[in-house]
Amino acid sequence: MDKVNILGVGVDMVTIDEAARQIMEFMEEERFHSVFTPNSEIIMRAYRDAAFADILNGADLLTADGIGVVYASKILKKPIKERAAGFDIAKKVLADVSASEHKLFLFGGKPGVAEKARENLLNDYPGLKIAGTRNGYFGEDEEDAIINEINESGADMIFVCLGAPKQEQWIDKNKDKLKNIRVAMGIGGSLDVFAGTAERAPEFFCKTGLEWFYRLCKEPWRIGRMMDLPKFAATVITKGGKFKQDQF
Ligand code: UDP
Repeated sequence: MDKVNILGVGVDMVTIDEAARQIMEFMEEERFHSVFTPNSEIIMRAYRDAAFADILNGADLLTADGIGVVYASKILKKPIKERAAGFDIAKKVLADVSASEHKLFLFGGKPGVAEKARENLLNDYPGLKIAGTRNGYFGEDEEDAIINEINESGADMIFVCLGAPKQEQWIDKNKDKLKNIRVAMGIGGSLDVFAGTAERAPEFFCKTGLEWFYRLCKEPWRIGRMMDLPKFAATVITKGGKFKQDQF
């Protein structure tokens, strides 16, 4: 897969369909694969934190979740065709997985969210097998029990929805302990959307690249984190060219 090096992070130049197809191919292989979907905030974090950049670059698939990342790829003259958000990839994967024998575990969100998401997903995707659910709030002393619960559930795919960077760090830390899992996807607030406890921005905002603006209006406290977007754009323009495109 072709990658674009955005400030030291090798983002795969895939569409939503290509990413979903790749994930289904991963499901055919008997080994662990991780899928992360960085946005500009996450790439800025990796730019400042080499250990976190290593975690991202260690993934089997990294897709561009955010219009900022798509624009960055254009500035770097290796344009990604479309934004491949975790939520959209997950929807395609769910359609494929529900027609298979694979079993999914839903991990993350406040208590009750994963259970509600399970209920809605089973309605929307007949044939889907959900092996277990677990909320995303836990202490260090509970981590082993959570791993056991996932392993004993028989799930071979997991959605890890703890928000970034927690989900990427959790997946990286536990990848050798997750015995049957073939694909772990870190997909942020997706369980909240599947559960109906959060709404996605209306299509108009997603299509026009203004989802960030919609979220800012709905959740103004995000302004601090969002200031990373102009910083990201400025850094890509001034420093982006220094990162070797054949590094990955
Ligand atoms: N979350 C969680 N455990 C935590 C922190 C967050 O399960 O310790 C969940 C939170 O309930 C939400 C999701 O992670 O469902 C994404 O959180 P947030 O919106 O903060 O992250 P983003 O999607 O913006 O990265």
